[in-house]
Amino acid sequence: MEGKKQCTAVVLAAGQGKRMGTSVQKQYMELEGKPLIYYALKTFQESEIIGTMVLVVGEGQVSYAKKEIVGKYGFSKVTAVVEGGKERYDSVWQGLKAVEQDQEIGYVFIHDGARPFVDEAILRRGYETVRRYRACVAGMPSKDTVKLVDEEAFAVNTPRRKYVWTIQTPQIFEKELIVEAYARLMEEEHGDVTDDAMAVERMMKVPVKMFEGSYQNMKITTPEDLAVAKVFAAS
Ligand code: C5P
Repeated sequence: MEGKKQCTAVVLAAGQGKRMGTSVQKQYMELEGKPLIYYALKTFQESEIIGTMVLVVGEGQVSYAKKEIVGKYGFSKVTAVVEGGKERYDSVWQGLKAVEQDQEIGYVFIHDGARPFVDEAILRRGYETVRRYRACVAGMPSKDTVKLVDEEAFAVNTPRRKYVWTIQTPQIFEKELIVEAYARLMEEEHGDVTDDAMAVERMMKVPVKMFEGSYQNMKITTPEDLAVAKVFAAS
């Protein structure tokens, strides 16, 4: 592989999964006999691009995840399993703290563990893009027209569809850039931050480039998503 900077994946699995409506947290729910979180970890484990991984899990789940996920499936690239936090950005921050001291790491791939269908082609497109632009995000052009609405749900604006992308992960950054962005963000009011690119756009004023993910790279959020994922997993 050309380039000397190592790539690490921060895989997020500390969400509550409340919208799934089950007692089992969604990252441990089974898809074709394996926990949901297994699929993304396997892709990173087998990737030529990714050198190491950090897994971010819920409170009190570190030893369970080490044994039942990392150990059981032989994910030898995992260098740390850490506890996340209340919101997604808290969990990202915990993951970044686990990698910031490692001088070998050049790029961080932040990925939602609830997106099982990330693949090597996406990782390669992202790697090429981050080396060129320092900050990039997987996404896809929106298939639906999008409307911005007011508090009463009246349409106020309709962006031209060719300029609307829906955002996925991985979101990939130079390590120093994303660590600094989050360090600054955590000092300020940041309750509205729902993705990592927002931190870089807002705190570092660095433009974030989009690259193509895939329509299969969906996030499993509700029971109907799981039904669709079963079809993809079986194919
Ligand atoms: O909640 P949302 O669907 O945005 O979650 C996206 C990803 O972030 C999921 O993989 C989830 O496990 C993770 N997450 C987390 N810590 C939180 C909230 C979400 O690691 N506090």
